[in-house]
Amino acid sequence: MRITGIHERPVPISRFGDPGLPTGGLDTSIVAITTDAVRDGRAVVGYGFSSVGRFAQSGLIRERFAPRLMAAAPLELLDAEGRIDPARAWSVMMAGEKLGGHGERCVAVGTLDMALWDIAAKMADLPLHGLLARLSGRAAISAIPVYAAGGYRYPAEDLSRLQDELLCCRDQGYRQIKIKIGTTCLAEDIRRVKAACKVFPAENVAVDAMNAYGPRASMAAASALGPFGLMWFEDVCDPLDFETQAMVADSYPPPIAAGEALFSEAEAKLLDQHGGLRRDRDVLLFDPVHCYGLPEYTRIVLTLLARGWPSSAFWPHGGHLFSLHVAAGLGLGGAEMNPGCFLPFGGPVDRCEIRDGAVPLPDAPGIGFECKKALMSLFDSLV
Ligand code: MG
Repeated sequence: MRITGIHERPVPISRFGDPGLPTGGLDTSIVAITTDAVRDGRAVVGYGFSSVGRFAQSGLIRERFAPRLMAAAPLELLDAEGRIDPARAWSVMMAGEKLGGHGERCVAVGTLDMALWDIAAKMADLPLHGLLARLSGRAAISAIPVYAAGGYRYPAEDLSRLQDELLCCRDQGYRQIKIKIGTTCLAEDIRRVKAACKVFPAENVAVDAMNAYGPRASMAAASALGPFGLMWFEDVCDPLDFETQAMVADSYPPPIAAGEALFSEAEAKLLDQHGGLRRDRDVLLFDPVHCYGLPEYTRIVLTLLARGWPSSAFWPHGGHLFSLHVAAGLGLGGAEMNPGCFLPFGGPVDRCEIRDGAVPLPDAPGIGFECKKALMSLFDSLV
């Protein structure tokens, strides 16, 4: 088996269901890795994208990481059965890279890694979560808890549109939601939280400050949010400002969520050592794509499990099928879903029924992008 081509293109994505609303020029890279393997009469192709929130990675993929995969001798990429092994391919991509200084190199590698896992699961004739469960020696599961994320601040009629969005999530079967704060004054954000708590009970509403607060604003927000008893308070301050993170954890009893903007095992250990997080309630959000893909994400999980964290604390960021498979296949707490934003990437497969806040896992081989029609027509345009 060998890789015959790697195709990449940046595509715009929106934080809103209405892509006409301004969203800061956000985009993501889509990739397709073609192979000479044939399954059910069709060439096996792996698809991936750069998750959401950190822009496309065209330069790094085209100039550095895709050429390394293409230049590798076929045997460097294969497992004992002659199939592409994502872990070996990861080592090929990372050859010569020094530790630290992640920049967004980690996102470029994670994007290709997603497509390699899509190939590996298709070759194993298993959905990715089933392959990951088999590799880690656990039984495959059929559904996993999720929460609906979104709730970005609308440029006009924010509160009523926010409530409409949340009602739509509730109608779809979601039981827990997450909204954004930190882009306006605290008083306005508290009005958003109150609006959300009219649709979902407070303990099922999380807020995400998108790392917006400095030390004083973090403490002010923690003090204002504390009495609500929310599901969690996410991305409070600069991801590397462990001093502020620890100060907030010391004064804010409800759960805190962190880790989305940290990209390596070393950074995850620093968060655990210095961020003041509490293993009995706090939530870890590392994004399996943004932190160099599944090989490094797995190292992060294993390292923190060994340091006493429960697997239920991990709720990977992303809101898409890949994170869903990873959470299910590694036996983690649950996953984010973006049912109404970052389309067509967000949310589960088409016509999926959310039951009591849990998503049934796709059973198509691979990641199952083929079961998301609009996304698949985007990927098809690559090759
Ligand atoms: Mg976040």
